[in-house]
Formats: sequence, C-alpha cells, structure tokens
Amino acid sequence: MSAFIPPFCPWKGCGEHRLPSSARPYQACVPWGSYPTKAFGLVPRFRCTSCGRTFSVQSFSLDYYAKRVVDYQDVSRRLSSCESLRAIGRNLGLSSSGSGRGGRS
Ligand SMILES: [Zn+2]
Repeated sequence: MSAFIPPFCPWKGCGEHRLPSSARPYQACVPWGSYPTKAFGLVPRFRCTSCGRTFSVQSFSLDYYAKRVVDYQDVSRRLSSCESLRAIGRNLGLSSSGSGRGGRS
C-alpha cells in the first residue's frame, strides 16, 4: 500500500477533484503520515496542496465500508452463480448492512 499514488483529490470542492487524466496527472499531494488500524494495518495519509485537506488510502478503498479486506472476485463469482446476498454474507462473514457482524440488515 505504500506505493499507492492518489488518482485525484477526494474532496468535492477542490479543483483537483476530477477524473484521473494521463495528460494532467494529479500531483498536488504530499505524504502526510499514517495511522494504524486493526483491520488494515498501517494506513498512509496524504495532504492535498491545492485545498489543504487530508485524506488516506482508505478514501479510495471499497474495503473501508466492509471493515475488512474482501476478495471481490470471489463475491462476483458467487453472484454469477446465483448465490444470494445473504448466503454470500454468511459464507464470507460479511454483512450487507455494513456493520461487519453479519447480523440483521
Ligand atoms: Zn484537494
């Protein structure tokens, strides 16, 4: 995760909040420390030099909402084989409500 380069600023009001472009790549950010998490280990932070706001790798990650690392190819395969959302959640230990406990949604 340390080689991650943010593709754009995630803050809506910023001038650098735009679609990633190879002609004009987003370079207005600097590393801004990191913080430890139980689910993902050390998470690097960045600071946008255009708007001055900070964000982390998690701002771009789907795993943030699942609160764990999920194999989305496995989820896609299970969905393709008509496995229900509840069954997928039960088998992978995930919750469709996002609580991460697999409880009621
Ligand atoms: Zn910004």
